[in-house]
Order: sequence, then C-alpha cells, then structure tokens
Amino acid sequence: MQIARLHVDVLVVGSGVAGCVAATSLARAGWRVALSGQDAPFVETGETLAGATRPVLEHQGLWETFLASAPLAVRETRSNWTHWEWRSSGLTSAYGGGFLVDKESLVRGLRAEARRAGAIFVEGVLAPATLRQVPSGYSIRSADGAPDIEARALIDATGRSAAIARRLGAKRVVHNRLVAECRRLPADQVDAAPGLVHVHAGHGSWWYLASLPRGGFCLSEYFEPGARGRMRAGRTAGGILAEMGVRVGGDAAARPTKRLNAGSAELSHASGARWAAVGDAALAMDPLAASGLAFAFRSGHRAASAIAAGLLGDPRELEEYARMHKALAAAYGSERQQVYAQRVEPMASRARRPRGAD
Ligand SMILES: Cc1cc2nc3c(=O)[nH]c(=O)nc-3n(C[C@H](O)[C@H](O)[C@H](O)COP(=O)(O)OP(=O)(O)OC[C@H]3O[C@@H](n4cnc5c(N)ncnc54)[C@H](O)[C@@H]3O)c2cc1C
Repeated sequence: MQIARLHVDVLVVGSGVAGCVAATSLARAGWRVALSGQDAPFVETGETLAGATRPVLEHQGLWETFLASAPLAVRETRSNWTHWEWRSSGLTSAYGGGFLVDKESLVRGLRAEARRAGAIFVEGVLAPATLRQVPSGYSIRSADGAPDIEARALIDATGRSAAIARRLGAKRVVHNRLVAECRRLPADQVDAAPGLVHVHAGHGSWWYLASLPRGGFCLSEYFEPGARGRMRAGRTAGGILAEMGVRVGGDAAARPTKRLNAGSAELSHASGARWAAVGDAALAMDPLAASGLAFAFRSGHRAASAIAAGLLGDPRELEEYARMHKALAAAYGSERQQVYAQRVEPMASRARRPRGAD
C-alpha cells in the first residue's frame, strides 16, 4: 500500500554524509526520522579524510562503517604550494596520513546505518518550492511519486544548493567561485604508488593528483571560471604530470574530464525555528582544505543534538549551533585567504572577501 503522507518528528532532506549522520544520531536517540535522497552518480575526486577525524567517528559510533567503505591509507603527500617542495609520509602524525575515501561506498554504508538505526528512507527528491509552515511544523511535497512529508523539524542536508535553508529565508554568501575538472587515470597508465596525494600549484590554477581506493588515480585542475584561459598559458595535463615527476602512458593525459562546483560559500544563518543546515549546505569549503567530509560528520551530529533539544522545548542549542557556524565560517575564510596568499603563483584574484549573497 502506498503511503500518501508521512508524519515524522524530523525530516532530513539530502542523504549525503551530513544527512545520513544527522538522521542516524536522531533515530538512535529514539526520534521518528525520515531521510530523503536518491542515488545520483558519484564523481571520484580523490577526497581525503584526516586521520585525526577518527576519534569523532568513534564517538559517533561510525568508525566501523567508515572502515567498511574500504578507504585507502594515504602513504605520501607532496606539495609545491609554497616555495619549496614539501613531502610528508604520514608517520609524522599520531593518526597517520589520513585516508583516501570511496565516497559512493561510504554514503551507501551510512544510509544503511541510518536505516538500521530506524530512520525511514524516502527514495526521491523533495521539491523545496513546496515547503510550507503548518501548525505542526513543516510540510513538503515529493517531486517524483514518494509520499508528501509532514515534520516537526527539518534538517537541510542538500549540499551546496542549501535548497531548504534558502527557502526558509537564509542567504547563501559566496566566498569565491572555483571549478574542478576531474579526470580518472587507469592504474596501468600511471607510474606512481597507491596512496599518493600530490598538490601542484600551476599558473592561474592548481592541480591535484590522488590515488583512488578502487584503483587508478584522479587528476583534477582547480581554477576560477574565466581566469584560466588568461593565466594558464597553454599548460596541459601531460605537462603538469611531467612537472610533478609522474610518468604516464597511453591516453591518460587526454582522458575526458567532469566539471564540479568547488567554490566556497556559507549560509547567512545555519539554523532557525526548528531547522538547521548541515554539511555543505551550511558551509562549503575549498577542496584544498580537505575538511568538507569532517565538517559533514561533525555538523550532522551537532545539529541533530540541537534539533532534539529544540523539540523538547529548548531553543538555546540551535542558537548556539548558528553562532558556532558563524565563528567557524569566519575562521575558515581568513585561513583560506592566508593559504592562497602563500602560493608560488597567485590565482587570478587570490582569495577574496565574500562576494555577496545569492
Ligand atoms: C572536487 C571536490 C573535491 C573535494 N575534496 C575533498 C577532500 O579531499 N576532503 C574533504 O573532506 N572534502 C572534500 N570535498 C568536499 C566534500 O565532498 C563535501 O564537503 C561533502 O561531501 C559534503 O557532504 P554533504 O552531505 O554536506 O553534501 P552532499 O554530498 O552534496 O550531499 C547532498 C545530498 O542531498 C541531495 N539532495 C539535494 N537536494 C535534494 C532534494 N531537494 N531532495 C532530496 N535530496 C536532495 C543530493 O542528491 C545529495 O545526495 C570535495 C568537494 C569537491 C567538489
């Protein structure tokens, strides 16, 4: 029998890392939770998670789920970001060099964990334009045949679109625009060992070569739209790999690329009356920071606790969540500015102050 309308305590819109963590935390605490999302194709970008995130995941009871996604240990990190070539082996950190993450497998595992905890998985996209405030909280309609949902509280985990929070009046403040062009290189065409992460500052863009947990490598170029043609001076993927000291064969350097939005943005406020935004919806960070996944875990868990307190009649934790988000976004913005200022070759505009809201 098809359910026409689902009533829950909390609706989590978006089932990436942040949404799954929030739904799991709430469901484990006994709340009736719906988690909505769909299987979208994942692009392998060579995402890393710092080894120091381990205690956070252990505290959340998600470390085993993370390990089950078969991450690959980072064995060596190289970077020429500043004036010297920098190398580290991971042995210098108490938690090792971190992990290269298979995000598709991680998200699949986290969704299963949310279901195990009791969250109701609602397959499909919800239509943010139909979001309404009703006496019991919020109601939203499904875009593709899933039940409409009524919830006492909402969590926006829709990623960079922040579609729910914006519908609730928050503004998305763009720090900078950055595009990633990622190409996958087969293992047998790249003369490099598994577990390598290499950041290479180029002219008007920067490059990232990373080993992938399922084998092979990802080579990405990051640049500000509009600036690359002027600054890049005809540099090719093959030329950059040679500068990195990595030999490739076959058609590796000419493989097709996929484009992704990698710019930084924050929400004007990350929570309100019985709602909170988590992960990229709240604060989308430059991939250079390699902090987006850790923030998705942290903010998902923290917002879940704040929403639960709000449902019990105490709004202070939600207010504190918004303050914490503001402080974090400000610290991130100035750190990003400093890091880009250290580059050998500046990006077209270096890091700028926030450009305004959209
Ligand atoms: C090129 C690139 C490289 C990166 N590298 C790193 C790295 O090395 N290390 C790191 O830590 N981070 C990295 N990041 C950032 C990291 O990927 C993100 O911070 C993290 O995945 C955010 O997770 P999330 O759950 O907030 O959002 P997302 O993963 O974007 O999930 C949002 C989900 O919401 C769903 N959704 C959206 N709208 C709706 C709707 N209306 N109804 C239902 N579902 C909806 C989407 O389909 C999606 O499944 C990188 C990002 C990019 C783009």
